[in-house]
Amino acid sequence: MALFAPALASGRKFSRDLRTRPANECAQCGEQIFMPEWSEWVNPACARHLWQCEACGYSFETTVKFAAA
Ligand SMILES: [Zn+2]
Repeated sequence: MALFAPALASGRKFSRDLRTRPANECAQCGEQIFMPEWSEWVNPACARHLWQCEACGYSFETTVKFAAA
């Protein structure tokens, strides 16, 4: 039996059209995460963000490096 859930499908956001926002995608469920749970500077040229997915609770870190001025 095929299970079709239109409410679930229509409630899902399209996540491919976010070119300018510094958002991340959950690696586990694909949900967009707009704000880091936590951010810290590793050094003046490097920041670390901790992301947590509200949908599934998955958390991960990203490291952002800035070019030295
Ligand atoms: Zn998730």
